[in-house]
Amino acid sequence: MRNLKLGLGIATVALMAALPAAAETTVLKGMTLIDGTGKPAQANSALIMTDGKITWVGPAAQLKAPDGAKTVDLTGKFVMPGLIDSHVHIGIMKDQTQDIKFYTRENVEADLKTYAAYGVTGVQVLGTDKDLVFDVRKEQRAGRPKMARVFTAGQGVVFKGGYGGVLGLNVQVSTPEEARKAVDEQAAKGVDIIKLWMDDERKAIPVKMTYAVSKAAIEQAHKHKLRAVAHVFYLADAKELIRQGVDGFAHMVRDQPVDQELLSMMKSKGTWMVSATLSREMAYSLAIMPWLQDPFFTRGVTPGTLKFLKSMDREKAVVLGATRFPGLPYEKKVFADMDRTLFQALENWQAMVKAGVNLGMGTDSGPNGRYPGFNAHEEMQMQVMAGRTPMEAIKSATSDNARWLGDKSIGSIEQGKWADLVVLNRNPLDDIRNTQTIQAVYVAGNGVPTIWQTCRDRPSNACTGSAQSVPEMPY
Ligand SMILES: [Zn+2]
Repeated sequence: MRNLKLGLGIATVALMAALPAAAETTVLKGMTLIDGTGKPAQANSALIMTDGKITWVGPAAQLKAPDGAKTVDLTGKFVMPGLIDSHVHIGIMKDQTQDIKFYTRENVEADLKTYAAYGVTGVQVLGTDKDLVFDVRKEQRAGRPKMARVFTAGQGVVFKGGYGGVLGLNVQVSTPEEARKAVDEQAAKGVDIIKLWMDDERKAIPVKMTYAVSKAAIEQAHKHKLRAVAHVFYLADAKELIRQGVDGFAHMVRDQPVDQELLSMMKSKGTWMVSATLSREMAYSLAIMPWLQDPFFTRGVTPGTLKFLKSMDREKAVVLGATRFPGLPYEKKVFADMDRTLFQALENWQAMVKAGVNLGMGTDSGPNGRYPGFNAHEEMQMQVMAGRTPMEAIKSATSDNARWLGDKSIGSIEQGKWADLVVLNRNPLDDIRNTQTIQAVYVAGNGVPTIWQTCRDRPSNACTGSAQSVPEMPY
């Protein structure tokens, strides 16, 4: 008030208070723009964001900055859309332990903020959410979130005694009727998608979802105008699920090479490889994770997680195989034979790239061994390692994933879309690892703390490294 000029009367002040708040406008200019659609990068670009939306984007020379706009000079920087991870699980971990009792609003939001810190501004949670996720989603969609946007499958469909879901959360079904009922319940809650699991953990579990049950779940999802996405492992199951109308796969086929029949089916039906989860398969094949000293990794995980990953216990589990993970009802050989599985996933990924099927970017982050946000960068690096260009990897994680989600308001830097953006110090098209040089992240135009301003569960000075760090292999 003391800044008001003398003579500005009470009536004027009252009038001002009654007016709607002035639009919040920020101009970003001078950067090279990678818009997420696959279009060539544009040097010397500018954009205007007003109240969280992109209201103009184009060459800096044509910029007409509105009066009163805050201007950020990004000369020498690179701007791409916020990344979308199409396969995650949130809120279920505390350090290395998975348990649904940890699923609190606080833990969910901590994960969503970690994703955003890594430039992942949207996530699709595949089947392990408690109902409080609908409140989080509702608030996000009514306003301008300061964390990753959440899309949810609610509680995915698990076969009785079979693989998938989280102990104590997911409904287990054994008949088509039960599957239809489970899908009806999720649809009534307003899920974005239906998830089902068809696997037997390489025959470690005696039962697997029957085709009659998967067929019922997929049909029922479609009755509710929802898409169905399936966890798969086996080639034969993938084919049967396509015949049943499944819309996408949450993992790569990993039991054997994919064949022309599968590729042709995916092409002709438009079936998506939503999330190949290559970084997940890699994580399982590593006895000692090579990024334990990499600040891009260590900043985003808790001290308890780091301690566990560096422990002999974990190394022993990796090397010797059979272990009982907390929260799992059965003992499984988590790591045994994972090298072959990783190789098969990569080989099949290459076949799908070549065939031109719909490919998203998803990691299965959340559970043990796969880390919120960090894995999205690993996943894009693996995509490039396996033959895609950095531009294609970025497109899969942005506009392609938005297309999978069916959300036209995110996924690219275009007029009318949300200003979900990542500012990078180095060019990711030169080296995909440059996606790690995160200088700023915006969600709906809100600047949020980046990973380089994060030191999860520790004082900020306990972490090292900066956005200028050269992203070389830390091992
Ligand atoms: Zn998953």
